[in-house]
Amino acid sequence: MPIMLANICCVCGSADIEHLGEKHGRDIGKCTVCGLIYTLQYALDYGKLYTEGSLYHAERIGHIPYRSRYLHDLHVAASRIEKLKHIQHPRSLDVGCANGAFVELMRDNGWRSEGLELNPGMAIWATEHTGCTIHTSWETVRAPFQVITYHDVIEHVTDPIAELERARDHLTLDGLLILDTPDGGAPEFLADVLGNKHTKPLEHLWFFSQQSLEELLREAGFFPPEIDRPIPGKIVAYARRCS
Ligand SMILES: [Zn+2]
Repeated sequence: MPIMLANICCVCGSADIEHLGEKHGRDIGKCTVCGLIYTLQYALDYGKLYTEGSLYHAERIGHIPYRSRYLHDLHVAASRIEKLKHIQHPRSLDVGCANGAFVELMRDNGWRSEGLELNPGMAIWATEHTGCTIHTSWETVRAPFQVITYHDVIEHVTDPIAELERARDHLTLDGLLILDTPDGGAPEFLADVLGNKHTKPLEHLWFFSQQSLEELLREAGFFPPEIDRPIPGKIVAYARRCS
C-alpha cells in the first residue's frame, strides 16, 4: 500500500465531505460546501505516473493505437482553434501536450506553437513529430503567450489553482486560456459517479462541474469563462485573465 496524501477541496478549501464510495483503492467524495466531487487521496509518488516510464502514455505512443488517437485529437483540436482566428501575432503553449497533436495543428495554422510535456520520452517523441519546442518543465518556458491550452490535464493536477495562476502569469494581458476536462456536472456522470468512464481515481483527482470550474478560474484570476460542450461528457472553458 503506497503512502497516501490527502486532498481537500481545491475550489473552496473545505475538507468536509460526503463519502460517495471507493474505486481502485481510492475514496471518492463530494464537498458539502461547494459540491465539487473529487478523489480523496493520491499516492506520495503520484507525480511519477506522468514523468517516469511510458505506462501512462502507452496508448499514445504505440503506432497503431497512437494513429487513431492522433487523428481524433486533430479533429477535436480543429474545432477549437476556430475561436482563435482573430488573434494577431499568435504564440501558443499546450500544457500536457502528450503526442503533440494540438501543438502541430496550431503550428500548421500559423501559430508559434510550443508544448509542455512532463514525460521526457513522450516529449522527445512529440518534438521529433512536430518540429516544435516541447518543454519538459515550466522552468524553460518563456512568457508571454496569447493562448495557453490544457486538454484533459487540469483533472490530473494536485493544485489546480496554483497551476492556473502560473498559466495566467504566462499569458498576455488579453491572452486566452482554453481548458477542457470531463464534465463533473453532467447528468450521466452524477447518475453513476463510480461507474463513469472518467472516474479513474488513480489519475483523475477532480471532477469539475461548470459551477466549480467557474469558481476555480475566478480564484486563479480569470474573468467568468465562456463555456462550451462540443463533446458529450466534456466541458470546455475559454477564459481571459483579469489583470
Ligand atoms: Zn468545496
